Amino acid sequence: MKLTGLIGWRGMVGSVLMDRMQIEGDFDFIEPVFFSTSNAGGAAPSMAKNELRLLDAYDIEALKRCEIVVTAQGGDYTADVFPRLRAAGWKGHWIDAASTLRMNQDAVIILDPVNMPVIRDALAKGGRNWIGGNCTVSCMLMGVGALFKAGWVEWMNTMTYQAASGGGAAHMRELLNQFGALHAPLKALLGDPKSAILEIDRRTIDTQRGFSADAIENFGVPLAGSLIPWIDKDLGGGVSREEWKGSAETNKILGQGDGFSKPLVPVDGICVRVGTMRCHSQALLFKLKRDVPLGDVEEAIRNDNAWVRLVANNREASIRELTPVAVSGTMAIAVGRLRKMAMGPQYLGAFTIGDQLLWGAAEPLRRMLRMLVQS
Ligand code: NAP
Repeated sequence: MKLTGLIGWRGMVGSVLMDRMQIEGDFDFIEPVFFSTSNAGGAAPSMAKNELRLLDAYDIEALKRCEIVVTAQGGDYTADVFPRLRAAGWKGHWIDAASTLRMNQDAVIILDPVNMPVIRDALAKGGRNWIGGNCTVSCMLMGVGALFKAGWVEWMNTMTYQAASGGGAAHMRELLNQFGALHAPLKALLGDPKSAILEIDRRTIDTQRGFSADAIENFGVPLAGSLIPWIDKDLGGGVSREEWKGSAETNKILGQGDGFSKPLVPVDGICVRVGTMRCHSQALLFKLKRDVPLGDVEEAIRNDNAWVRLVANNREASIRELTPVAVSGTMAIAVGRLRKMAMGPQYLGAFTIGDQLLWGAAEPLRRMLRMLVQS
């Protein structure tokens, strides 16, 4: 069995990954070695077989023993360790959730239900760097990738509503603590139906504006009862890194644009953090190359992969099935609100939701691992 190093297993993505690997029986196919950046020497989790202690995740010699490394530790870790490990002559497979290596020429962005041919091609050519895509992009392509595959898309605009967990475990805790801090001082007023709503509203905004530095340590500003219209770094020119990834990664996953034979399809939009726990949602606007009948669009989406779930475009289905509450923790990628827009028959609107910790992070990694250990 291949010795497989697991790093970042207790973080947000890592915990979901461990959960999915247990459910799918992936540990039956590997000899796991657990690493830590903060607790080397501590006890490994219960999935360990023979390697019962946590190893130091910065120990290049220990990492070199592994045939496969799977990391969900984060970009700083990858930037530090990956080059040193390769420089030390390590020839193993590196599977990573972080964005650091995604755009490298020798790295494949893995999302096998969408780009299995690209993965197979790279495997045949000796590829060894397998990087999970941006969570928003992966969830979007699992939902509406069929339209790109059919060659129907002239461009796509995406307006996102991204969950707190996109930032990691600490961000989820911060959001809930903020909600608690907003509710606690209002309990008595909320319990009295005759209390004045404007007083409740005023106190809420006062609490939000008065949050201590500790209360906003991770997001930098309040998120509970608010939103943040910027995600990731500022690239200049008014573009966030999350927005840049939309076009760069969508096209790379589909094998389009620079370095590929097919032309790039423009993808752009505005990425917004909202106060949901899990699931990234997106309102999409497509310009199609021609007036594709709505029935054909629906059929293509429905038949694209086993996880996509088409939601009827009516009020009842939309409010029940097309929400983070309905989709969180499930493998389903819900696509709904499909209709031609007032701008003309080539303009298609859609709304899609996926649990970004599953298809947007953990799932492509474990499926790649499984592919490698069973090949
Ligand atoms: P995270 O929850 O912050 O975990 C990363 C590491 O932080 C853990 O492995 C752990 O390392 C350490 N840590 C410190 N305090 C912790 C605590 N209280 N609970 C758990 N872990 C704690 O980050 P993440 O969201 O999993 O992201 C990991 C990577 O995946 C990043 O590169 C991110 O960009 C990428 N990614 C994230 C998502 C998402 O939706 N969150 C989606 C796609 C890709 P030690 O055990 O070594 O201390």
